[in-house]
Formats: sequence, structure tokens, C-alpha cells
Amino acid sequence: MQPSTTSTAALNWSAIQASLRTTLGDDTYTTWLANLKPQNLTAESLTLSLPTTFIQSWVEDNFRDVIATTISAELGKTLPITLTVEPAFNATSTPSKASTPATTQQPAAAPLAPTLPSTRLDERYTFDTFVMGRSNEFAFRAAQKAAQTMGKEGYNPMFLHGGVGLGKTHLMHAMAWDIKARNPSARILYLSSERFYDLFMHAMHVARDTMKFKDIFKDVDVLMVDDIQFIAGKTSTQQEFFNAFNRVVDMGKQVVLTADKSPVELDHIEDRLKSRMGAGVVVKVNAPEVETRLAILRSKAEKSEIIIPEPVLNLLAHTIASNVRELEGALNRIVAASRLMGHEITPEFAREQLADLFRIHTRIATLDDIQRTVADYFKIRVADMHSPRRSRNLARPRQIAMYLSKTLTSKSYPDIGRAFGGKDHTTVMHGVKAIENLLTRDPELAEHVSLLTKMLSGKV
Ligand code: ADP
Ligand code: MG
Repeated sequence: MQPSTTSTAALNWSAIQASLRTTLGDDTYTTWLANLKPQNLTAESLTLSLPTTFIQSWVEDNFRDVIATTISAELGKTLPITLTVEPAFNATSTPSKASTPATTQQPAAAPLAPTLPSTRLDERYTFDTFVMGRSNEFAFRAAQKAAQTMGKEGYNPMFLHGGVGLGKTHLMHAMAWDIKARNPSARILYLSSERFYDLFMHAMHVARDTMKFKDIFKDVDVLMVDDIQFIAGKTSTQQEFFNAFNRVVDMGKQVVLTADKSPVELDHIEDRLKSRMGAGVVVKVNAPEVETRLAILRSKAEKSEIIIPEPVLNLLAHTIASNVRELEGALNRIVAASRLMGHEITPEFAREQLADLFRIHTRIATLDDIQRTVADYFKIRVADMHSPRRSRNLARPRQIAMYLSKTLTSKSYPDIGRAFGGKDHTTVMHGVKAIENLLTRDPELAEHVSLLTKMLSGKV
């Protein structure tokens, strides 16, 4: 929220900020006072705001005097100050990326319990927007179940692990939104491990008071700590984490943790902490298989308000296998480039725009490779690729090879026609179109095409 300039314009706020920074040092200033803002100035008093109740009470206890002195010096007179919580901060958060249209169903508008120093939840990360597939089905269902039972039925602690960009944070936020929707007064403390560490460091070094740190966890109903591998090895933080964690589980409250590895595999974590973390439900989030990758792309494409042809989605799903974030990034890049250049989205355009990714992920198939691989696969002769014979058992593999030639290489229709025994480019276009249509209707054919694509891009 902007300072209300009409009433606070008389303050030289940047001078006050500079002075506070000098007095308190960069670290302390950045941690506690960077978001201190003037809200209202009258002849009798000055109201200042801070983003959360937690920070406000901390600043009240620790820095009120220094703030008052600094402001008095700047104004040339003593003025009582009031510290409040910034009204907008705890309201429903805005999506973090302005470019993403808020087309998804909005999660419950209920604010986070204002006394908890939670990391902000992303509105886009809900169960509704999570695409379930074989790779993440167990994680998805367990997350839903834990959100419903909230520590009551053995899904506690819940430990989600897996590689980067596979949806752990998404699921955790989705649980928080779901719990909020069901139970608006639930006190959910969601912390990135950096946030956990920061809070701890402030307690230790700024306030020299670990009691305050402990207090944070006293009344929570749900504790979520994301990416706890970053707490590993920082021994005193780990100890405090363990204490907080134990206390919350012992109270029968739900705890949800994520990490890049399972509890037993985590390095530099004490054994007793490992075994305690693994005592509830431990779920691995796997890399999505190609069908799930396609479904994720389709769901994201729907939201982009731009038509993205199926062959392009297919190409991306087959090429970028390891990481949903990368998959999303690739799609966003293509959409952005197409908007910027006013260019239609085609497989060639996608390939061009993502040349860097494609070099990493694929080996480039040639038309020869494609014909040979497809012929082998369907147990026909390579010569049948070139022949004009139209019997179905030859024509279909030929069309598939044409389709793969169009999607996996940058050759033109006439080029492809020439490579297939001097066929007209309209024959190739017709063949490619036929396969595109069948892909959405014929699962068996889709499976063949999917496997062939993998074989040709060096994935199997
Ligand atoms: P992690 O925490 O495991 O590193 P994230 O939860 O941050 O991964 O996910 C990375 C991105 O991929 C996010 O934008 C997320 O919404 C998206 N994502 C991951 N898995 C899925 C899925 N199954 N359905 C929809 N989006 C997903
Ligand atoms: Mg994450």
C-alpha cells in the first residue's frame, strides 16, 4: 500500500529511512524495517504500518524508541507514533506474476491467520489446478487426505519428497488453501526453510530471545515447512526445528514437510529427527510420465488464451521430460514469443524459439532415421515408405512417419514429400493432418506415436 501522500507528504520519509538504516545497520533494517510505511500524519500523531502482526510486535518491542527518536529529529519536534499492521497485507494475496491471468478458480478469500509470520501462498497452487497422473497420484491423494483429516488419521507428519519442479510446493500450498476453505479459522504456518531460518536467526541475533521464536509455534494448527533439506547441517536451527516440529506433532496438529530426498536419505540430519519425520506418511513425487506432461500442458495452454496446436503440445511433452517447471517455462516462452512477433504457433516455431532446450533434450532425427525407425517398428520395409501403394497397413505407418518428420525435424512439406518417394506436398499435409486427428481419438495410435517419438529423440 502506498503511503497516503496527502497527509504524510510533510515527512521526508527517505531521509528517515536512511537514518534508521545507518543507526541499526543494513541487516536489521532490511529484516524488520524495510516495509515500515507512514500511513497517517496529523498534528498530534503519526501512524506507521508494518506488514504482519508478528513484525509489528517485534518492532514495537525492539525498535519503537529508535524510530521515535529518528522521526523527532527529522521533524524537529516530538510526535507520538503508533505502529499498526498494514491493512492490505493480510488480505487475499495477488498473484505474483502480473502476466498470468487469474482464470483459475480463486481459493477461499480467507486471510491467513494474521499473527503467523507465514510465507505468502500462491493463489495458483490449488488442488483444482494440479494435474494428477500415475507419477503423482499417491502424493496428490495423500495431500488431500491429510488436508481433510488435519493430523487425526495417521497422515501425520506428512513428508513429500522428490526432485525439483515436480509439484511439491504446489501440493503444499494446495493443502493450505483447502484447509483454509474448510476451516477459515485454522492457524496455518507455512514457512519456506529460508523463512524458518531467518526467523530463527532474528530470534537468536537480533532479539537474543528464543522464547519469541518458540511462541510462534505455540498456537498453530498446521505447520508446513518447505524444502527442509536447507535446514540440514545448520545445527542450532535444526535443533530448534526439531523442537518446534515435535511440539506441533505432539499436540496432534498436522505437520507437512517437503524435501528433495526421503527422510532417511537426507544428509546432515540427526537420526532421531529423520526417524521422527518418517514416522507418518512419506510420499515420493515422481517425474510425470508423458501422458501427465501432456495433460499439464493442455491445462496450462487453456489458460493462456492462445490456441496451441496439439502437435506443439506433443512436441514439448515428449522433449522436456524431467521437470514440470521447465515444461511450463517452455510453454510460456512460446506463447510470449508468438504474442510479440504475431507469429502462429507451429512445431517449427516452437523448435526455433526453444532451440537451446531442444539441443539439450534431443538428438536431431533425420528423415532417414524416421523412415527406418517407423518401418522397423511396424515391420514393413523402408522401401514401402517410398512406394505409392495405399493399402492401409502401409499407408498408416507412412503417414505416421510423415507426421514425425513434420514434428521432429524442421523440413518443409515439399522436402518431406521428396523424401517419401517424390510425393506431392499436399499428400504429406493430408497425411500429417490425418495423424493429428487420430491422435485425439485413437489411444492405440497415440501410444505408437508417443513411443516412436521417444525412440527418435533418444529417450529410450
Ligand atoms: P517443487 O516444489 O517440487 O520444486 P513446484 O511445486 O514449485 O515444484 O512446481 C513447479 C511448477 O510446476 C509450478 O508452477 C507448479 O504449479 C507446476 N506443477 C508441477 N506439477 C504439476 C501438476 N501435476 N499439475 C499442474 N502443475 C504442476
Ligand atoms: Mg518447492
